[in-house]
Amino acid sequence: MLVSAKEMLEKAKAGHYAVGQFNINNLEWTKSILSVAQEMNSPVILGVSEGAGKYMTGYKTVVGMVKGMIEEMNITVPVALHLDHGSYDGCMKCIEAGFSSVMFDGSHYPIEENIAKTKELVAICKEKGLSLEAEVGSIGGEEDGVVGAGECADPNECKAIADLGVTMLAAGIGNIHGKYPENWKGLSFETLDAVQQQTGEMPLVLHGGTGIPEDMIKKAINLGVAKINVNTECQLSFAEATRKYIEEGKDLQGKGFDPRKLLAPGAEAIKATVREKIELFGSANRA
Ligand SMILES: [Zn+2]
Repeated sequence: MLVSAKEMLEKAKAGHYAVGQFNINNLEWTKSILSVAQEMNSPVILGVSEGAGKYMTGYKTVVGMVKGMIEEMNITVPVALHLDHGSYDGCMKCIEAGFSSVMFDGSHYPIEENIAKTKELVAICKEKGLSLEAEVGSIGGEEDGVVGAGECADPNECKAIADLGVTMLAAGIGNIHGKYPENWKGLSFETLDAVQQQTGEMPLVLHGGTGIPEDMIKKAINLGVAKINVNTECQLSFAEATRKYIEEGKDLQGKGFDPRKLLAPGAEAIKATVREKIELFGSANRA
């Protein structure tokens, strides 16, 4: 069964740990993440970007696959299926398809418009029992080949959005999607602290978890981050292990070309990354 992310994140914030959101791209990703969450007795959030949703042929396919796996794999830890960086229309489609959580990314709108659209979604999500993530201050990273620096959110704008009744809030604190550049200045703990003081109990979300040093992750959790998004890191682990398998010529030995064999090292590598993150975030045995 899929659950909203509300309860797991409120517990995480109170218990000073964070729940990982691991983005999925296909069956191997989903299977690897679910099996590690179960093995470590950790709550987990499966993130789906609009692009990944399209890749998997649509949100209904995603819901069917995830629900089926939870049942067939006897997954008993809390699992939320969450739309990552959704548009307003994307949120509506996921709500209809049976997701248990959505993120509305209105950070590129003027704050008034972000508030108006978030407000509408708060009402719909409340009625249907879904959790809702909102974003203030856009998160940097590569988009259409342009690498933007991570913005820092305005703490007063964060409070305005938090007060609408969203479940969790992503605030830009200098974080970036994808790999961090050499000259990255690090997370702005000053901003994070100011946001947390304005938003109180609201679980905060840290996007762009790939490559943030461990001490910064721990400090962010201490300052109220209760959800950390990991996407690129699993992709890099998968690619590295798959490359190794092929470079060693294993696909040419026996039935090494069988997709179940060819994709196995990558799937194991995703597991290792997820295990490492759950350990670091402190959510093991918190299911
Ligand atoms: Zn993000």
